[in-house]
Amino acid sequence: MPDLITHMAAALVLRRAFAGPRRRLVFLLGAVLPDLYFKALHVVLHADTWFCEPTHAPLVLVLECALVAMLFPAEERRGHFAALYAGSLLHVLMDAAKDNFGHGSVPALFPFSLDLWELGLYWTEDTVLVAPVALLAALALELAVLRPLLDRRPGAR
Ligand SMILES: [Zn+2]
Repeated sequence: MPDLITHMAAALVLRRAFAGPRRRLVFLLGAVLPDLYFKALHVVLHADTWFCEPTHAPLVLVLECALVAMLFPAEERRGHFAALYAGSLLHVLMDAAKDNFGHGSVPALFPFSLDLWELGLYWTEDTVLVAPVALLAALALELAVLRPLLDRRPGAR
């Protein structure tokens, strides 16, 4: 799995697809949600890896996102669920793009199949090199988008 920095950097770039700061934050949460569930089961509850892998299955993500969406006010749940699910799918797509030594990492068809899928586009360790670059690219894009807005504020230069 790419590290959380890489997942967040990708989500930072794509969050503008959602309207409003709250919805965008929820999208960012969705981009790390599958790993939060995985780590909670694996690290906190000491569950075996095979038991935790379905946390990255698209059908299971529907339940995971629905549980989190229930934490929000009723009138916001539907939109927040969509943002959470979109972020989670981005996460799973990034995980699936990695080469996990040919073992696969995403149970795309769970519960109908236990096979793990991967695209094998980059090595697992590549995210160590990609994370700082991805974060800098996201920050540069953010500055490029924000700078014209800041210059237009009343009282700005
Ligand atoms: Zn993951």
